[in-house]
Amino acid sequence: MSKIIAINAGSSSLKFTLYQMPEESILSSGIIERIGLKDSIFTIKYGEDKKYSVTEDIDNHEIAVEKLMTQLVDLGIIADFNEISGVGHRVVAGGEDFKESTLINDDVLEKIEALGDLAPLHNPANATGIRAFKKLLPEITSVAVFDTAFHTTMPKENYLYSIPMEYYEDFAARKYGAHGTSHQYVSERAAELLGKPLEDLKIITCHLGNGASITAVDGGKSVDTSMGFTPLAGVTMGTRSGDIDASLLPYLMDKLEITDIKEMINILNKKSGLLGLSGVSSDMRDVETAAEEGNERAQVALDIFYNRVQKYIGQYIATMNGVDAIVFTAGIGENSAITRKIIIDGISWFGCDIDEEKNNVRGVERIVSTDDAKVKVVLIPTDEEKVILNDVIRLGK
Ligand code: AMP
Repeated sequence: MSKIIAINAGSSSLKFTLYQMPEESILSSGIIERIGLKDSIFTIKYGEDKKYSVTEDIDNHEIAVEKLMTQLVDLGIIADFNEISGVGHRVVAGGEDFKESTLINDDVLEKIEALGDLAPLHNPANATGIRAFKKLLPEITSVAVFDTAFHTTMPKENYLYSIPMEYYEDFAARKYGAHGTSHQYVSERAAELLGKPLEDLKIITCHLGNGASITAVDGGKSVDTSMGFTPLAGVTMGTRSGDIDASLLPYLMDKLEITDIKEMINILNKKSGLLGLSGVSSDMRDVETAAEEGNERAQVALDIFYNRVQKYIGQYIATMNGVDAIVFTAGIGENSAITRKIIIDGISWFGCDIDEEKNNVRGVERIVSTDDAKVKVVLIPTDEEKVILNDVIRLGK
């Protein structure tokens, strides 16, 4: 029986979900972490609660894909490679070229590689993953699903920066956003849960995970999003600063005696956000615990996180001239009831009101606002793999 695999290759990781068709049930999922470093960790979940885990050096994504496929056979999850009829790859940057998911041919693969400037950590890894699958399974349906595609509907006034127009025209310097697959999925599910046509709704989707972004979805289309040219912009994240004044960079470089701008950007990407503010951790659970124990820096980090999300929600209510629903998703949005409550309580003037009892849940689809609230607050667990699966099915026909 045929199977479809969804692949999410990060800079040093490769995640997969294997679906049984036509049921679309999950047969197996897993992750290879620390690719290219010592002691890579390879984990596969399968069957009822079975887990395979091994630590070994895996030098690159090509070897990772070979090991993954071989292990799927060795564990009896697939009988041989030919059972896999389709593969969908998450690709971070699609630039202005890719407005929707697309079948991968040599031309598409070259373009994905050429877009490496926009996502230097991710697109090369995505391309290597694609090549590795092409080598092992050259005949199967192969689809690229772009993180930026959903945001290609943004109007010019929202995607252009106020810098000389030539920089956009000559170098494509503009806002692209990210997490598009997630924002698309949760906005569609929210409309279904609310029982209203997506076309009639103004929705603000808050994808709050280790990476976090907020999107204004008007009538099912992304009209603005908080991430920018790269995923560094927007709200405070686990290790990323989110928005800052660009003039701070030369000032800090001078003070810190940093001469390479890449080192400064690395600090903003890897050492800032909740981690840099709290000094405790990039993980929301750790920061919440530290704050509860009286750690003031951790409390300030939380307050800044809530505040930045609230500001973006306010902006997007203005952008769309209204809002019908605010959606929370991803690790923090799905699991932290207190985050949802504090963010919504602070913007109640707009007509949203959390029902504390309904809100006291994790990871289920649910309306968590009071019955008479003008603006609905909705919890939707994201499922980017499902979007990838659907696109492989659709384009493979
Ligand atoms: P993601 O990137 O979507 O996997 O989300 C990771 C983030 O979700 C981390 O900051 C986690 O601390 C956070 N998270 C996961 N579970 C919880 C929880 N129960 N309470 C608060 N934050 C959580």
